[in-house]
Amino acid sequence: MSRTNEIKKNENRKFLHILHSALLGLALGIGLTGMLTVNASAAGKIGTVVTGRLNVREEPTTNSKILSKLEWGQTVRLTRQAERGWYEIKLNGKKCYVSEQYISTKGTSAHKTYLGNFTLTAYCGCASCCGVAGNLTASGTVPTQGRTVAMGGIDFGTKLLINGVVYTVEDRGTSYGHVDIFFNSHQDAVNFGMQSADVYLLS
Ligand SMILES: [Zn+2]
Repeated sequence: MSRTNEIKKNENRKFLHILHSALLGLALGIGLTGMLTVNASAAGKIGTVVTGRLNVREEPTTNSKILSKLEWGQTVRLTRQAERGWYEIKLNGKKCYVSEQYISTKGTSAHKTYLGNFTLTAYCGCASCCGVAGNLTASGTVPTQGRTVAMGGIDFGTKLLINGVVYTVEDRGTSYGHVDIFFNSHQDAVNFGMQSADVYLLS
């Protein structure tokens, strides 16, 4: 091998080393800043929890033992798609499972903002709760227990996390800071009475 070739080879090696360092730096940068937004790697995708509380189960079935709970916005590495409707994840090195419908793999970030400790009351669709009995909410949706709430001063469609449940503001009737929660039955609404809870804005 001539001396010129030897120098060239060394330069190439140097260049490759710089390139390698740059790529490694880039990968680390993405890893550190983009846990919420970057998915994809050979090991599996990153999923974002998009429900108030997500049960982590021992087996891929709702009958199995709950090992832990994840909260809105937490990210988790999905080891693989397990049984239909379930993702396998690892918790402290142990295989466990989460329901697929509460995990977003679109790479969108999910944030939780504390709004305050609000007053909670309950209502149903009857004339005594609403003045006039109605079948639809003020925003035109079909009121649904476990989802529909009323609150003023905030856009329809806003998602609120209250006591681990994700609600959607679909009705009016109360001022900001007072959440009125929809129930199917008038008796359940009465039984709920008046409470208070920490309320988070989800985005
Ligand atoms: Zn009622």
